[in-house]
Amino acid sequence: MAFDRQQLRIPGPTPVPPQVVSAGARPMVNHRGPVFKSTMMNVLERLKKLFKTQNTILALTGSGTSAMEASVANLINVNDEVLVLVGGTFGDRWAKICSAYQAQVHILEYPWGEGVEPQQVADFLRRNPRITAVFATHNESSTGVLNDLQGIGAALADSDALYIVDAVSSLGGVDVRTDQWGIDVVCTASQKCLMSPPGLAFISLSERAKQRMAQVSSPRFYFDLRIYMEWLAKEEPPFTPNVACFFAMEKALDLIESEGLEQVFARHMILRDMVRAGLRALDLPLLVADKWASPTVTAVKPKFDNIGRFLAELRDTGVELAGGQGRLSGEIFRIGHMGNASPLDMLTTLAAIEARLGSHGQAVAAAEQVWSRAQQEQRGGQGYEGDSV
Ligand SMILES: *Cc1c(COP(=O)(O)O)cnc(C)c1O
Repeated sequence: MAFDRQQLRIPGPTPVPPQVVSAGARPMVNHRGPVFKSTMMNVLERLKKLFKTQNTILALTGSGTSAMEASVANLINVNDEVLVLVGGTFGDRWAKICSAYQAQVHILEYPWGEGVEPQQVADFLRRNPRITAVFATHNESSTGVLNDLQGIGAALADSDALYIVDAVSSLGGVDVRTDQWGIDVVCTASQKCLMSPPGLAFISLSERAKQRMAQVSSPRFYFDLRIYMEWLAKEEPPFTPNVACFFAMEKALDLIESEGLEQVFARHMILRDMVRAGLRALDLPLLVADKWASPTVTAVKPKFDNIGRFLAELRDTGVELAGGQGRLSGEIFRIGHMGNASPLDMLTTLAAIEARLGSHGQAVAAAEQVWSRAQQEQRGGQGYEGDSV
């Protein structure tokens, strides 16, 4: 199977559009020269519209986890009491990082396949006033759950705890209103909804977070965000960054802006609803109820065994899906539909799945119906509010 025809439908890295590939392939420049300076400042400035924030955004050379670790290293002291909301492997990652930095970690576990109830967060904080930070996962990619960031933000309103969010698999595909929802720190990365190769992570910091940073004594150097802020004032990176990925990101932002951010969000909801309708038509059980269904990744808990073989056979037909992680390993498979993903891509993906299962046309037909209804609604000027949510 030729790789340029492969459908890469995993929850990241995601397919990089050809224009973005070319932009990232331009010859290297001086990372302290005028070309890079303008590219870096341009990308960081335009990202504010996607983050919906006036806060400072910093770029780190690393994967999404580097931004997560930087948040902990810069904002949490040894023995600080923190609350981590865990409903999958990425929430679990926050807990592991906080433990590595010797915080006292409280875990509010919610079922893998559901979202966290904001009221539980509010109750926990009322009973535990010493919590200095709450760590949340917007889109839990291991289950395909989209958490209610606004509701969690409201639960934190009466608390001094910092609100720190992993939005790696949502930002740029799902609405994240950093300022309106009171989020102090948002982490994301280049290789998910931002349609670029892996290699850059982005992190936004509120004034409160910057003040807290000055009071934290955890050892740090490469991820010392104070150094990044000092250099940002001079419009330069502190160390050699992933220059190629910045060029790619600049082009990816062109694509997102020309489609329009709200249309990008609507497209992701349409993709979610197409995939869910198609899978339902095949009687494939969805892991997540409509209420929590993610616009960027969908998990299926099939009744058949040997999901590994199923995925390997699909790969041979040119469609790459993901298996389960952590305790869902061997139990589920996941379809990524974020970033560079279109309704036609979903039809192809569903066609491959149903052909493999010996069905013909039901999944594609169900998804096409969702798509044409969505097109009608959008042409009628109503926008797309979603089928199932
Ligand atoms: C992909 C992802 C990350 C980051 O993973 P990296 O491999 O470090 O980029 C973090 N959180 C979520 C929810 C993700 O989907």
